[in-house]
Amino acid sequence: MLQDSFNRKFSYLRLSVTEVCNFKCNYCLPDGYQCDSRPKTLNVEQLRILVAAFAKAGTEKIRLTGGEPTLRRDLPEIITMCRQTSGIHTVALTTNGYRLLDKLPRLVDSGLTNLNLSADSLNPHTFAQITGSNSLKEVLACVDKALTLGIKKVKLNAVLLKQYNGRELQQFLNYIKDKAVSFRFIELMQTGDNQAYFSEQHVRGETLKQQLLTSGWRVLPKEPNAGPAEEFYHPNYAGTIGLIMPYSKDFCASCNRLRVSADGKLHLCLFGEANDDLMPWIANQDIEGLKLHLSSSVLSKWQGHQLHNGNAGLTKQLAMLGG
Ligand code: SAM
Ligand code: SF4
Repeated sequence: MLQDSFNRKFSYLRLSVTEVCNFKCNYCLPDGYQCDSRPKTLNVEQLRILVAAFAKAGTEKIRLTGGEPTLRRDLPEIITMCRQTSGIHTVALTTNGYRLLDKLPRLVDSGLTNLNLSADSLNPHTFAQITGSNSLKEVLACVDKALTLGIKKVKLNAVLLKQYNGRELQQFLNYIKDKAVSFRFIELMQTGDNQAYFSEQHVRGETLKQQLLTSGWRVLPKEPNAGPAEEFYHPNYAGTIGLIMPYSKDFCASCNRLRVSADGKLHLCLFGEANDDLMPWIANQDIEGLKLHLSSSVLSKWQGHQLHNGNAGLTKQLAMLGG
């Protein structure tokens, strides 16, 4: 398995399949997706080489992300290709859920195992204020459909935002009272483009953690090789809570993931200052060479990000890389 110089092992790849997005989340792409030229994205054949090399290097789980991955018409083919790659047993999708309701059965038939839907608020008006889209109803319908279609893990993601969802905890908790889904709260991360917004809206995940602990929520023990999220359960709730707190101490110690952008660049950290172009190996269909390259590249992964110093590295917004 891929291992870095701090003995962290990487069995999880976050693969962006497009940097294009149709939403205008105010913490990510407040003016919508902008581009001067046609974005470069790997086609299914190129993705096949990439995924095969990662699988040979021990990757077991792939999350397809973006931009908005459902904008790719060939998403079912990409999912099938990932599931047919020996060694890959989990194929997850992170999506804003737009027009997903009708597509979901085909994605599940193609081999999708896990689904994360973004829902920054359960209030339709606030949801629209944050995302620029009136699609909360559809997102929530997708959650129910995913559960009936037998998707193994269904999660909702909400970015913690002082002005918008800072006082909605009870609404989120009511939602998971009888629904076996995990609501994951992500601490807002500073990126190159959102510095003023970050100063206005950032809320410490630790504050929410204390609220949960004082109202009877308990920490779920971590599974081996689990990522940095902290999980909580409550005996009276069917659902669970996850907290992703990138500013907390030791967040990077349990990092278990690598990232590849839609144009085939390896990013060792979401907030790193370098990327590594994998196209030469992909173009030569050199799976073995790419596997060796990944094993040596991962040795230069930093021990931790530099967000505390206000340094988000190359990351202007998370749509570039998939979060
Ligand atoms: N478009 C899809 C979506 O929104 O689910 C996938 C890509 S999006 C970049 C992946 C995740 O990153 C989403 O859950 C989104 O809320 C989160 N995200 C984006 N920008 C963020 C930021 N600055 N801080 C924390 N999370 C962020
Ligand atoms: Fe698009 Fe996702 Fe960014 Fe929102 S968070 S703008 S849906 S990429």
